[in-house]
Amino acid sequence: MKIAPSSFTNQPYLIDGKASASQVIASVTAAVRAERQRPGLAVILVGDDPASTVYVRNKSRRAEECGFLSRQYTLSAETRGSELLELIGRLNGDPEIHGILVQLPLPRHIDACRIIKAIDPSKDVDGFHYVNVGHLATGALHEALVPCTPLGALHLIQEVLGDKLCGLHAVVIGRSNIVGKPMANLLLQHDCTVTIVHSRTLSPEAVCRQADIVIAAVGVPGLVKADWVKPGAVVIDVGINRIDHPGDYSRLVGDVDFDEVKTVASAITPVPGGVGPMTIAMLMQNTLNAARRSRIQQASAV
Ligand code: NAD
Repeated sequence: MKIAPSSFTNQPYLIDGKASASQVIASVTAAVRAERQRPGLAVILVGDDPASTVYVRNKSRRAEECGFLSRQYTLSAETRGSELLELIGRLNGDPEIHGILVQLPLPRHIDACRIIKAIDPSKDVDGFHYVNVGHLATGALHEALVPCTPLGALHLIQEVLGDKLCGLHAVVIGRSNIVGKPMANLLLQHDCTVTIVHSRTLSPEAVCRQADIVIAAVGVPGLVKADWVKPGAVVIDVGINRIDHPGDYSRLVGDVDFDEVKTVASAITPVPGGVGPMTIAMLMQNTLNAARRSRIQQASAV
C-alpha cells in the first residue's frame, strides 16, 4: 500500500512487519535457489544471556530455511577476547562464510569495538564496522552493509510511501550507533529532511510534531503520545520493551503509545509484529548481498 502522509482518514494503516519479512525471506530463498550459490552465515554467541540465546537461535534457523550454510558458535561467558579474535580471524579467511555476526552485548571483559573492527567489513552483515558506517554516511550504499534494523524500518516506510520520501521531514528519536544514527543516514540518502531527537533534546514533542515520518528507537515504553504526532504522519516503532506484570506474565510494548497514536497516524507499526521481524529478514538479505559481492569480486580477480 502506498499512501501520502496527507491522506489521513482516521483509520491508520497497520503496517504488517511479519508479512513484509516473509516476502523478503521468500525472495532471498528464491534467489539462493536460482543462483545456485550457498551464502554462509556464522553467528557467534558468547555467554548464555537468555534473550541473546533466543535471537541467535532464530537467526541460525532462519539462515537454514533460506538455504544458507548456517554455523552457530556458542562460547562460554569466560571466553577471552583473544580467543574470540582468533575465531573471527578464521571465519574472515573461510571462503564458505560470507557473513559473520557477533551477538551483542558481549560480556563486559570483552571490548566489543575491538571485536567488531576485527570482522572483515565485506562479511560484516550487521553493518557495525566503521568501514560500513563510513560507506553509509558518505552515500556509498552499493558498497555498504547497512545495519539490519534501520534497513528493515526503511523497507516498511517505503511499503507505505513508495518512492515519495523526497522532501519529507523525518524525525528519528534515539541516536544509537545500532539504530538511530544509521536510520537518520538512510533517510538522508532518500532525500528526507532529517532531525534527530535524543535524551538532551529540548521539547522533543514539539520537534516530533513537525514530522511526516516518526521513527522511535529509544527503549522507553510508550514515550511517544498522540500529541507528539502530526495528524497523518507515518509512525515506525523500533522499541521493544518487556513489561512485567504482577503474577506470572509479561508483554512486549514499543516506544510509541500505540492506542493513542493510532488515532492520529496515517500508518503505524505494531509491537510486536512490526520492525522486529524485519531485522532478521534484512540480515538474510545482507548475507545474500555479501555472498553476491564476494562472487563478483572473485570473478573479476580471475
Ligand atoms: P540505546 O539505549 O542504545 O539508545 C537509545 C537512544 O534513545 C539514545 O540515543 C538516547 O539518547 C535516546 N533517548 C533516551 N531517552 C530518551 C528520551 N526520553 N527522549 C528522547 N530520546 C531518548 O537503544 P537502541 O539499541 O537504539 O534501541 C532502542 C530501542 O529499540 C530499544 O527498545 C531496543 O530494544 C529496540 N531495538 C529493536 C530492534 C528490533 O529488531 N526491532 C533492534 C535494536 C533495538
